[in-house]
Amino acid sequence: MNAPVSSPADTGRRFYQPHGREVELFLHASQNQLPVLIKGPTGCGKTRFVEHMAEQLQRPLYTVACHDDLTAADLVGRYLIGKDGTFWQDGPLTRAVREGAICYLDEVIEARKDTTVVIHPLTDERRILPLDATAEQLTAAPGFMLVMSYNPGYRNLMKGLKPSTRQRFVSVAFDYPDAAREARIVQRESGVELPLAESLCAIAAALRSLSDADLEQPPSTRLLIHCARLINSGLPPQVATEAALTEALSDEAATQQAIRQIIHALL
Ligand code: ADP
Repeated sequence: MNAPVSSPADTGRRFYQPHGREVELFLHASQNQLPVLIKGPTGCGKTRFVEHMAEQLQRPLYTVACHDDLTAADLVGRYLIGKDGTFWQDGPLTRAVREGAICYLDEVIEARKDTTVVIHPLTDERRILPLDATAEQLTAAPGFMLVMSYNPGYRNLMKGLKPSTRQRFVSVAFDYPDAAREARIVQRESGVELPLAESLCAIAAALRSLSDADLEQPPSTRLLIHCARLINSGLPPQVATEAALTEALSDEAATQQAIRQIIHALL
């Protein structure tokens, strides 16, 4: 299966609201050719951050959304059969290594374990990618940078990243932005007025303070943006919050009722 890849031209000019000193950290990691691991819950801005940094560093970006069938061959490449016979096609990691690009492995913990075999030699002093199938050994071009993200949340507690892998990376922890930053992000990304963005963020804060037993996953900044966009395009807030928050967060009638009460009190 080929990994979904965004083309290097995809990055565009994207707004990024920093959480802390992650921009500075990333720039130094890049300067020192160090790989970066970003930890944090889904929808909190990890991908947006990497896109922003690729743009700032003027490097192409190859993003791979990892899943449980993703193998080393999906990253490195494989022989394909064409009308003129077999030919080799580079995977996104190989392209990034050759071009000196940033390769971003999103939710890397989902990928098959054989991917660590190709990651390890790229993340130490050697910076090499052995291509067994073509008997090549590529040395990464100077700008090459490996960035991975994972969500250390409940479901991944057991899966974890092996210490031998994670200790190769400089790590940065992301969380949901504080209320003021999150409201600015929601406003900017959806076009709603600031007071409405603030109310949605207050709802999110209240929902995030519920226990894990109540909500499998707390609402992400992404969900708030979806909700705000629906409202901004004219959908009544009740309909928008029902679809983008209540139904998106739970299937349990009792939990949904609790979510509605919080929304009703704060919107
Ligand atoms: P993740 O990769 O952590 O799952 P994303 O980076 O895709 O999350 O974030 C989801 C959406 O939330 C983005 O498309 C963007 O609209 C918005 N977003 C979240 N955090 C930020 C931020 N710090 N600055 C700008 N936009 C953000």
